[in-house]
Amino acid sequence: MTINEYQKLAMTTLNPELDKKDVLINGVMGLCGESGEAIDIVKKWLAQGHELNREHLAKELGDIAWYLAETATALDLTLEDIFEANIEKLRKRYPEGFDAERSVNRSEDSL
Ligand SMILES: [Mg+2]
Repeated sequence: MTINEYQKLAMTTLNPELDKKDVLINGVMGLCGESGEAIDIVKKWLAQGHELNREHLAKELGDIAWYLAETATALDLTLEDIFEANIEKLRKRYPEGFDAERSVNRSEDSL
């Protein structure tokens, strides 16, 4: 499955009653909520004596992917658009791979 095929399939489960603004809001709120669920799994592992629940963490990553797809859809972008733009940004920031000096002193236009 390609990332754009994923986006299409995932969006078949989007509430069709939401307007575009609500899709965007639901998307970014969902990203935060699902990221919080992922953080909670790691928190329990780091600070509460739990085993790292890798299976549960992987499921939360899937939930994050769904909301990422939703947010991209609200912006009329494909996941491929988002991923390619991110790689392009990283190539400019770290042309030779990660570099701590470039990380600390990156330009303002390199958000
Ligand atoms: Mg979840």
